[in-house]
Parts: sequence; C-alpha cells; structure tokens
Amino acid sequence: MSSVKLHPETLALHGGYRADPTTGAVAVPIYQTTSYQFRDTEHAANLFALKELGNIYTRIMNPTTDALEQRLAAMEGGVAALAIASGQAASTFAVLNLCQAGDNFVTSTDLYGGTWNLFANTFKQMGIEARFADPQDPQSFAKLTDAKTRCYYAETLPNPKLEVFPIREVADIGRKLGVPLIVDNTAAPMICRPLDHGAAIVMYSATKYIGGHGNSIGGVIIDGGNFDWAADKARFPLLNEPDPSYHGAVWTEAAKSLGPIAYILRARVTLLRDIGAALSPFNAFLLLQGLETLPLRLQRHCDNAAKVADVLKAHSKVARVIYPGLMSGEAKRRADAYLAKGRYGALVGFEVKGGVASGQKFINALKLLYHVANIGDARSLAIHPASTTHSQLSAEDQATTGVTPGYVRLAIGLEHPDDILADITQALGQV
Ligand code: PLP
Repeated sequence: MSSVKLHPETLALHGGYRADPTTGAVAVPIYQTTSYQFRDTEHAANLFALKELGNIYTRIMNPTTDALEQRLAAMEGGVAALAIASGQAASTFAVLNLCQAGDNFVTSTDLYGGTWNLFANTFKQMGIEARFADPQDPQSFAKLTDAKTRCYYAETLPNPKLEVFPIREVADIGRKLGVPLIVDNTAAPMICRPLDHGAAIVMYSATKYIGGHGNSIGGVIIDGGNFDWAADKARFPLLNEPDPSYHGAVWTEAAKSLGPIAYILRARVTLLRDIGAALSPFNAFLLLQGLETLPLRLQRHCDNAAKVADVLKAHSKVARVIYPGLMSGEAKRRADAYLAKGRYGALVGFEVKGGVASGQKFINALKLLYHVANIGDARSLAIHPASTTHSQLSAEDQATTGVTPGYVRLAIGLEHPDDILADITQALGQV
C-alpha cells in the first residue's frame, strides 16, 4: 500500500502493514520468534551481506517491530525508523551513531534528567563530550560548534519549563555548518513534526504517548532522510569510512540502492547488533495498539490540559502556571510556531503557594491522579519534583532547571475533565 499521501490519522491505522500474508490477520500479529528459516545458503549469504533485505534474528529485526517502525516513519514524514528497548536506548543510539571517542555534540540544557546523566556522565566516560547550549539563544549552538561536532540535540517540549525549543532556528544554523539536529519529540507527538521544521532525526520515548497506556517501555529513532551525510565526509567518519565490523562497508554507499537511509541502517546493523537493546515483539505489539489511537488521544490529552491550566490560573492557592498556551513573548511565539494550532501538549506545571510543604500536601491529597514519575499515560499523573526527581540537586540547581519549591508537574490524562478538575481542586483545598 502506498502510504505517501495519507494523513497521519490514517497512517496510525494502516501504515506499514496490510493483512498478514499467511493468515490474513488484520491486527498486526505478534511474531514471537527469535530466528527465521533461510530459503537456502545463497539466501542466507545475501541477507548477511545486505544484498537482500529480510529477517535474520529478532535482536536486529522482527516483523511486528517492522510494522511499528514503518508506521512511525510514515506518520512522522521520515524514510525509515528503528524501534528499540527504551527511550534511553534511543537517545544513546541516536548520538552514538555519529559520535566516537574524541568527538563532541551540542545539546540543549533543557533535557529529561535521564538524558542529562547519559550525556554529562556516561558519554563523558566514553570520551564523547556533550556541550550544553542555552535553548533561548540559538546562536549558542553555533558558538560551541567545531570540526569535531557531530550533531545537535534538543527536546521539543522539555519539562519542567515547557518552553518549546527553537527547532527551525537551530536546524538552520546546523544545516549551514553541516551539523544535523536530533529532536526528542516524546512530549509532542502529532502536535509537532520536527522533520517539517528542518530536523534530521527524530526520537521518542515510546513509553509515553505512543504506547499511551503506561504498560510498556520502548523507544524509536526516525531517520528524516533529509540530511546529506556524504557532503562533509570528514565530519561523519562513521558513515563515510569503511566499517571494519562489516567487511569494510561504507554506509553512505551501502545504503544507496535502498534510499537515503544510511544513518538508520548503520544504527540497526551495527549498534543494535552489537549492543543488543532490542524491543520485544510483544512490546512492539502493545506500542502499535497505542499508536492506532494516538491522534485521537492526543487531542483529548491537550483539550483536558488546556482546561486544567485555565482553572489553575484563576486559583487563589496557585502562584504561577507553567503551560505553553499561557506563556507570552518569544516562548509563546515558539509554542505557536511549532505546535499544532491551540494544542499545547498535556503537561501542565504549577507552583503552589507555600513552597515544598504545600507541594507535598497537594500531592498527598490527590485521590484520582496517580503520584508517579511518568508522563503520557491515559490516566492523569502528578509529581512534586523538588522532593522527588530533583531532590538531589541544590536549591540553586533546581531553580536553573525550572523547579521551584512548590512546583507540581501534571501529566493530564483522558478522564472526563470535570473529574480531573474536581480532584485537583479538592487537593488544593487541603493545602
Ligand atoms: N526522553 C524524554 C523526554 C523522557 O521523558 C524520557 C523518560 O521519561 C526518556 C527520553 C527516556 O525514555 P524511557 O523511559 O522510555 O527510557
């Protein structure tokens, strides 16, 4: 089925799969198998030599996972995708596919804590330097770029600040300097398509809105196919120099007959092969179930969040509401430029008057909202970062990341908005 002209809402249901060729099954089957019978030795040899594409071993590819990958790539406007074990694995692979010891990359400071640790500590131990740039100042990315800079990295809608990243501005700077922008779009699927704004690679923690039901960990990297890796061969040696782990394959050459997929091909056949962070076929199936209703769910998530933000704004116990739709100036301009009209995501931050004690009181008084360290569940979730996710930071560092003592993060779910509001209002009443 040609999926090129279909809308994302349709692709969520039809992309990458049309009835199982053997059984006619309409739902994507769970191919719970480790390996695949080769037709003969020539077939096997061709698969290993990448002369023919096909299934070898589930650590590297699987038909259930393949349907998920094709669907996500089509929805995002990319050329191919790699689904793997977690969002953390996706960020790791996205960068490691371009950087080796001695290299650097420039990243926005506004990151998920797990990504920050990976970049600032684990990559450092591997000899890869993360250079932190201020997302409010796109030129800071250019200033930190040198001949060893392999990519830029940012999140579309980072929490707790919820200030939308200047995707086009930084992507354009990167394209002038020959540096691709990788965007973590975890908090903004459907409402932002970073590839349309110049990003080269998009990644997700599929654990969140894509799965959408809080039952599976997974991640995905989508190759936009819009970056010429061979234009500056010295900048991307991993894609342009013979790979000793694959009989000297040069990935930009090897991918030529397959389309502009050198980046994602290498990630699969070297990083996934060697590091082994494979997604289980069962989780791929669950993520597919989530994906099928993602377009509808995101609308409801966003509509509910907008209602919550409005009520909080008018509440006497709330000092401040952090929500893109209520921002002003440049932050609001970016939210409107990069997010779908009137849809500002499902995350709402607010500061309860009275500091840490009030934030904790609010959380403890909730009856419907779950108190968990997660976002993107169908159920509404809440957390008080100062006493949990950010408790190891000094008060000063907390403030830099946007966490004030009374800050509460809400990930608004799909319940009836009146029920969500009733719970939030009663909990505020007890503060
Ligand atoms: N990126 C963002 C923006 C996240 O919020 C998270 C998890 O919270 C991750 C990446 C990591 O994803 P996972 O938990 O699936 O490994």
